[in-house]
Amino acid sequence: MNPEHNNLHRIVVVGGGAGGLELVTQLGHRLGKRGRAHITLIEKARTHFWKPHLHEIAAGSIDINNHAIDYLAQSHWHGFRYRLGAMVGLDRERREVQVAPVLDDEGNPITPPYTRAYDTLVIATGSHTNDYGTPGVHEHAIALETPQEADRFHRRMVNACIRAHVQGAAQGAHQVTVAIVGAGATGVELAAELRKALRLLVTYGLDQIDPERDIGIHLIEAGPRILAALPQRIADAAGELLKGLGVQVHCGAPVSAVRADGVELRGGTFLPAQLVVWAAGVKAPAWMKDLAGLETNGLNQLVVRPTLQTTRDDAVFAIGDCAAAPWLGQKGTVPPRAQAAHQQASHLAKQLPRHMRGLPLKPWRYRDFGSLVSLGEHTTVGNLMGSLVGGNLWVEGLFARLMYLSLYKMHELAVHGWWRTAMGTASRLLQRRSEPRVKLH
Ligand SMILES: Cc1cc2nc3c(=O)[nH]c(=O)nc-3n(C[C@H](O)[C@H](O)[C@H](O)COP(=O)(O)OP(=O)(O)OC[C@H]3O[C@@H](n4cnc5c(N)ncnc54)[C@H](O)[C@@H]3O)c2cc1C
Repeated sequence: MNPEHNNLHRIVVVGGGAGGLELVTQLGHRLGKRGRAHITLIEKARTHFWKPHLHEIAAGSIDINNHAIDYLAQSHWHGFRYRLGAMVGLDRERREVQVAPVLDDEGNPITPPYTRAYDTLVIATGSHTNDYGTPGVHEHAIALETPQEADRFHRRMVNACIRAHVQGAAQGAHQVTVAIVGAGATGVELAAELRKALRLLVTYGLDQIDPERDIGIHLIEAGPRILAALPQRIADAAGELLKGLGVQVHCGAPVSAVRADGVELRGGTFLPAQLVVWAAGVKAPAWMKDLAGLETNGLNQLVVRPTLQTTRDDAVFAIGDCAAAPWLGQKGTVPPRAQAAHQQASHLAKQLPRHMRGLPLKPWRYRDFGSLVSLGEHTTVGNLMGSLVGGNLWVEGLFARLMYLSLYKMHELAVHGWWRTAMGTASRLLQRRSEPRVKLH
């Protein structure tokens, strides 16, 4: 039924990522399937992929196709509508989201520009990498923002290895060099995952390459240490593990430009590299900066109150990386993490039915469960926090790995439920037995 033609409350969620997809799925069950509200997801992609896995796609450790969720099928199963398109504007007076036309690969129109009316709007469009205006990043570096970008990096990496194999190892040290700019969790995890994947890759017949001698990985950080947002102990442990993996870490080394053949550091040092990944910080997209007079911060994020409503409009909410939500009990705002997006989605799924009835909303409080950094299949380090572990508990090894994997399982449970999560996990385990352990193309 067309939501314009009846009086049901219209909830529009824009962006079906770590937060948005969980939210529409839960709202679909609570409200959409019961005929209590119209739930619509506007999303510019056709399939959902959980972003924290992107570095594993880049390394070739997992295949996109085994983890992607088709939005149309998801909406059909879970009681919401999916509309393809990118939000580009907002009319708060008319309560309409403006969506850009969608074109196919050849530039032919698929959908014209359209507007979508709402009674309640939730913006969950995530973030982009922040290049801080550094010249050459856009042209020469790959940002791990989408599965397509991660896959493009992977193909370029495999090509570089095949090229090096054919040329033979006679040309001296490091025929293939990867420079990763930004030593936050994404950069550190990518460096470790790459080392593991490259070692595996050469075992599939690229025997002219010695992975330790011929493949160099540089991790470049402007700040004084890696993992600046995480406790020192995690950074120290991760630093030791990276050293053991032969990753060269450069701290206090701001990048002044990216070139086709490598990166220039401030001070004049040049690091040659065939592949450059930019993983240095995030910000919300530029179109959000002046979005219908809503308040934004210096990172273009929408400033929200503890109820997750934007400061200037009760009908517009924001969650996930695009929202600057106050961290109650702490200074500053909640960090851009999947665990925050997950918690906000669960909170709003309970609060929006109250909002529809005009009841007061409960504030959202971020519960930091700690930080875990994965450094390959068997090595994870981090700390767990909260009442469950009685404070701050240092973890590593298999237990830490299981906790790390549980974040994705929580996402899968929220969007699939128990049965499909169990079936999906089992089928992927079986598939791993019959496929190469690293993607070879
Ligand atoms: C490599 C990597 C590793 C990470 N590892 C971790 C980790 O271990 N732990 C952790 O907690 N966090 C991790 N993160 C951060 C985490 O992925 C993000 O915090 C989380 O995905 C944010 O969720 P979100 O819903 O706000 O945005 P996203 O998950 O980015 O989803 C945004 C969605 O909005 C859509 N969209 C964007 N613009 C528009 C538009 N204009 N119109 C319509 N749709 C739009 C996008 O297509 C996307 O589907 C990692 C991130 C990366 C890149």
